[in-house]
Amino acid sequence: MENINRLFVPSKQDYAKGKRPNVKCILCSVVNHDPEVESLDVYNTKHFVVSVNLFPYNPGHLIIFPKRHIETMEKFVTEEIIELHDLQIKSIKVLNNCYQAQGYNVGYNLGKASGASIDHLHLHIVPRYQREVGFIDVIGNARIIVEDPKDTVKRLTEEFKKQ
Ligand SMILES: [Zn+2]
Repeated sequence: MENINRLFVPSKQDYAKGKRPNVKCILCSVVNHDPEVESLDVYNTKHFVVSVNLFPYNPGHLIIFPKRHIETMEKFVTEEIIELHDLQIKSIKVLNNCYQAQGYNVGYNLGKASGASIDHLHLHIVPRYQREVGFIDVIGNARIIVEDPKDTVKRLTEEFKKQ
């Protein structure tokens, strides 16, 4: 809790500007530990991976995805649905402890018209802040510091272990 008044901003320098790896499915590659793909996973369960989003909308933006490649929610079996719901609750607890967000958007982008860029089903957990980070915040507010995604991963991995 030492960083309670700080808002951490993932650095986009190395990640967002990088080109996407040439793999069939980036999330399957994460599951299979493909060396082509930089893994940002912070927690694993029997059926799911929780990962920092490679292109975060906001600091602490997570995605939760099934280890098997499915593209629609109808493919989930009951055991997965229960595990996924438990993971959503756990993820928000972790983010509350690490980022002190004032709100969350939780949901899917389903289908091409939704803006989905990856077919492999994944649930977004997007922390929301009263004052969201823009360029003015970055240059005008000393509390905001840039955080390397590797440090984000380390912080969240440690916090997930405590849950
Ligand atoms: Zn996949």
